[in-house]
Amino acid sequence: MKEIITTDFEKEVLQAGKVVLDFYSNECPPCEALAPKFESLAELYGEDIKFLKVFRQQNRDLAERLGVYSSPTLIFFDKGHEVGIRLTGGIKRSEIMFNLNSMLPAEKADAIKSRIKPYTTPYDVAIIGSGPGGLTAGLYLCQARVNTVLIDTGLPGGYVSLTHQISNYPGFIDPQPGYMLSHNMSEQTKKCGSVFKVAVDVTRVDLQKKEIIIDEYETLQARKIIIATGTSPNYLNIPGESEFKGKGLSYCATCDAKYYADKEVIVIGGGNSAVEEAEFITKFATRVTMVHQFEKFQANKQAQEKLLANPRVEVLFRHEPRSFERRGDKMVVAVENLQDHTTRELVTDGIFIFVGMKPNIDLFGGMLELDQWGYLKTDEDMRTNLPDVYAVGDVRSKKYRQITTAIADGTIAAINITRELDN
Ligand SMILES: Cc1cc2nc3c(=O)[nH]c(=O)nc-3n(C[C@H](O)[C@H](O)[C@H](O)COP(=O)(O)OP(=O)(O)OC[C@H]3O[C@@H](n4cnc5c(N)ncnc54)[C@H](O)[C@@H]3O)c2cc1C
Repeated sequence: MKEIITTDFEKEVLQAGKVVLDFYSNECPPCEALAPKFESLAELYGEDIKFLKVFRQQNRDLAERLGVYSSPTLIFFDKGHEVGIRLTGGIKRSEIMFNLNSMLPAEKADAIKSRIKPYTTPYDVAIIGSGPGGLTAGLYLCQARVNTVLIDTGLPGGYVSLTHQISNYPGFIDPQPGYMLSHNMSEQTKKCGSVFKVAVDVTRVDLQKKEIIIDEYETLQARKIIIATGTSPNYLNIPGESEFKGKGLSYCATCDAKYYADKEVIVIGGGNSAVEEAEFITKFATRVTMVHQFEKFQANKQAQEKLLANPRVEVLFRHEPRSFERRGDKMVVAVENLQDHTTRELVTDGIFIFVGMKPNIDLFGGMLELDQWGYLKTDEDMRTNLPDVYAVGDVRSKKYRQITTAIADGTIAAINITRELDN
């Protein structure tokens, strides 16, 4: 693999055949996560495709000329023309291979694939998920000299890295940007010496054999497993939702309601969380309009009565949202009246969506005991029903899902595991 500078670009890329170019930076965790993948793929594909690296900070002109604004960015070229899909952020090995393979004849790509040698690495503990719960467990285990690997389909940090401001995490006087808090958590765990396997495809998990296969060929074998995969919100999957997520659309009242003091918001949903969160939002917003598809709420009676008696609350029953858009500093939601099928626009300052969360447990088959909402049941030491399998954080059956409760779970699991491994 070769490092090039701006003046080499013409000869090494534009006048060459098949090339993949990696723009990287210093102090860039996603670049660190990419480096071993890029190196191992260079060994595999190096005879057919040239692997080049460019240090972005010292080759800004070239980066700007190619429209590269974040690190790492991978760009693929064939005979001087850009091909395939540009990759950036938490880049997976499978995404790179997809691009490389599409630059080669199918037989060649198959021949290269057949040269991949599966291998196994033993660890004491494997943690699946590197949000606050997983990172805290990783930190405690590492400091106890337990050989630990953390595995994540994305970059470390979990939800915290996506949260704009965190004001309720103890130890900081002022609200902290979520990405900084999660960066500090993951660097603390990394600095201690835990192994991170991030932005990987988790191919298969065998909770009985305690084996996790990542990227189809690497097996991580552990004596104990901690599941820390968190939850995902249920989405409405309507136009504008993915575009305005975190930019006018929120899925967390505890986190974001305070930003709507003396403003108006719309809350979508009508179950327990929607009704309880809407009540909480009225502490800040002057008007909360609930949009719910049925003719009454599904929440518990007491919570419903309290909400309906609140003068700041208005309800549109039998209405469903159809699309979101932004107009200036306002959000606009188109809602359909499910009785007469007319549609109208509601203009507001912000929108909260509470149509349920789901635990990320699809990988684990049907062997784990769940509560009635599908969350993993544990005892107070974080043990699931399977021997040597623990669960921590939001994926676990519990009442309150916050950063502080996830890190408490991670702490408890790690201390218990350390003691068991010592015996
Ligand atoms: C929008 C929003 C704002 C929030 N704001 C606050 C706040 O201000 N204060 C507060 O205390 N709490 C807040 N919360 C709640 C808080 O973020 C969570 O309680 C906390 O992040 C839970 O940590 P966790 O480690 O259990 O899970 P998560 O943070 O969800 O992390 C789970 C990790 O597992 C990974 N993962 C998922 N599936 C797999 C898989 N199959 N294989 C490998 N890895 C996988 C994910 O990529 C992720 O990195 C907020 C939540 C949301 C949704």
